[in-house]
Amino acid sequence: METVKIWVQGIVQGVGFRPNVYRIAKRLGIRGSVKNLGNLVEIIAQSDENTINEFIRKLSYEKPPVSKINSIEYEKINSSGHFSDFKIIKSSLNSTGTSIIPPDLAMCDNCLKELKDKNNRRYNFPFIACTDCGPRFSVIKSIPYDKNKTTMDEFPFCPQCLQEYENPMDRRYHAEASSCSICGPSVKLYNKQAKEIRTENPIKKAVNLLDDGNIIAIKGIGGTHLVSNLEDDIILKLRKRLNRINQPFAIMSPDIKTIKTFADINIYEEKSLESIEKPIVVAKKSKNYSFPDSLAPYLHNIGVVLPYSPIHYLLFNYTNQLAYIMTSANIPGEPMLINNIDILKNLNTIADYFLLHNRKIANRCDDSVIRYVDGNLSFIRRSRGYVPAPYDLRRYSKDLNILSLGSELDVTFTIVKDGFGFVSQHIGNTNKFKTYQFLQEAIEHLSIITSTDNFDLIAVDMHPQFFTSSLGLELSKKYGCELIKVQHHHAHGAVLAFDNDVDELIVIAADGVGYGEDKTAWGGEILYTDIKSYQRLGSLSPQKIPGGDISTKYPARFLLSALSKEYTEDELKEIFKGYVKFFKYGEKEIDMVLKQSEKDFNTPVTTSIGRVLDAISVALGICGKRTYEGECSMKLESVAFKSNSNLKIDLKFNKHENRPVLDTTAILKEVIEMKNKGLDIKDIAKAGQYAVAIGLAKMAVDAAKLKNINVIGGTGGVFYNESITKTIKEYVREEGFTFVGHDNSCSGDGSISLGQAIIASVRNR
Ligand SMILES: [Zn+2]
Ligand SMILES: [Zn+2]
Ligand SMILES: [Zn+2]
Repeated sequence: METVKIWVQGIVQGVGFRPNVYRIAKRLGIRGSVKNLGNLVEIIAQSDENTINEFIRKLSYEKPPVSKINSIEYEKINSSGHFSDFKIIKSSLNSTGTSIIPPDLAMCDNCLKELKDKNNRRYNFPFIACTDCGPRFSVIKSIPYDKNKTTMDEFPFCPQCLQEYENPMDRRYHAEASSCSICGPSVKLYNKQAKEIRTENPIKKAVNLLDDGNIIAIKGIGGTHLVSNLEDDIILKLRKRLNRINQPFAIMSPDIKTIKTFADINIYEEKSLESIEKPIVVAKKSKNYSFPDSLAPYLHNIGVVLPYSPIHYLLFNYTNQLAYIMTSANIPGEPMLINNIDILKNLNTIADYFLLHNRKIANRCDDSVIRYVDGNLSFIRRSRGYVPAPYDLRRYSKDLNILSLGSELDVTFTIVKDGFGFVSQHIGNTNKFKTYQFLQEAIEHLSIITSTDNFDLIAVDMHPQFFTSSLGLELSKKYGCELIKVQHHHAHGAVLAFDNDVDELIVIAADGVGYGEDKTAWGGEILYTDIKSYQRLGSLSPQKIPGGDISTKYPARFLLSALSKEYTEDELKEIFKGYVKFFKYGEKEIDMVLKQSEKDFNTPVTTSIGRVLDAISVALGICGKRTYEGECSMKLESVAFKSNSNLKIDLKFNKHENRPVLDTTAILKEVIEMKNKGLDIKDIAKAGQYAVAIGLAKMAVDAAKLKNINVIGGTGGVFYNESITKTIKEYVREEGFTFVGHDNSCSGDGSISLGQAIIASVRNR
């Protein structure tokens, strides 16, 4: 007879881990106990040696679907007595270590069966949940994860639900979010005047209203969606009300079979769509795609998602529609609305009706968005379903408490505690006041649920004017800790190194803009990094951005300024005759930009690839005005996608401040000349993208040779572009190097806070 103590560490709370341990122990005839200790589950097991070994093996093989085990450790102990049974012991209050709260989870198959079963007491109950599914992160107010610390505390169990909750053999044992129609939340339908529309079945009524062309705000698990049908005039109505001219909408379909009728879904995409995380997957439109162009204008792909909350499943019960638009319900640029009063008040010019429930959302959590790029998963937004599951950063540091605040757009923040990096949900664009407020609330909340009450280091972006930078300064004073400033693309590179478990690599950082050490806007860079430090070994050629932000919106300004290095004023005026419509103020603006560029008046300098791709896009007449982030380059990608040609542009490399640079003016000039020769726009689009990609790849290979390094990686928002990624990957491999990308983290700025945290972790190494 032996007695061992076993510690299992990971996502083991709120996921049915203890009852699972209980069931395995019972089956094997093991005696002892199991209890929660913060992020650990502690088990005492008494039996013969062989049975205990089998028990330990089974703990990792037969774990609940949602749990995640980081480590299992055990030691023999001298037990004074014999246990008579196996028991689940109540969570102890003086638990140690960081709790790891699971993310919100899509409805499981067992609950779906019950939802559809007329004889089940939860038939058609819109809040059905169990230990394997339902809200977690979005309902938790503080720890330990118990019902009274969640927003389910307002719904005390009825006797039947309590019985399930207390029975270790029941699927709902300790399912904190479990309830039923007797004791749980309920759904109500409201009109624009915030008056309840009394009806027997509010969900069914809402579906009728949707199918009649109304726009409805529907509150779900971690947030609220604006929902409509896919008729052209309804989409245009929604666009007008949201002042969202071109940005694509994501759609929800009832099942994978339906999605396959309009999108080409590969096996990986199918798996992700059906995973418990249920992200939005950006998939290619198929030949049979026939929704109106207004849904995702000029793009070759569309964001699709399957129902994940019981309310979504019930919606599709009452309709024959192939899909509904499901877009985050917010005032443009502000965080998603989650509070019933706010939703009714702030959206009454946008939504016609409101389908709301009375369970509070403690933390908003937007839908996650992924895309497969050349067969590899790429996170565009890592939020609902994934957050707050942490990254294991223990290889860098185990004892520093770190807070890092990201960049400015697409912000997340990260808290490092006990070597685990908790990256927050998507926060958004922090130059909007309400989003900045949300950032502060979310930091407070994540600090509570990770039991973090002080920080040793705070990391921010190098940019002197970001709100996140000034918040970092403020917080570093509050906690009396050091503030460190991290270069944007260095942070991108550190995430890439972490994600691929390498200590050093050559990084191709290709994105919009990130503030550089030389105070210019970087964004087409070749860096070397050993995580702790970095060197800039190449870039695109520096270009002026006449007028700064206005050039980002109207890329013709950038194009004109870049070409002014190669053409005379008269030649430019001739060339730009066809582009007058792409300037906000028409012809006179052309003169203005030329003067501005010549005299260096308000002309920040950039090496960003984003600006160059936008300029190619406008040069080809594809997109002259950016109405959403990435619009012009996304449309360029969609046009180039249709080309099969092998048209190429000759590359020119120069030296600038001792580093090699790819001459982007030469590329833009060639694009214009090809267009003037009458070559096919889609072929030139492809050639333009290819030129920038291959230019970066060549410089990266040279840098790798120089530093004698074998690994080259790609990071930044441009690596969501499939053809650019493929081009770079293939070239790097042909040259005998290993290419790496992001596997489990965002390629875009959603990962900046993680990179900052990693760099802060290794700071004293
Ligand atoms: Zn379930
Ligand atoms: Zn109940
Ligand atoms: Zn970036």
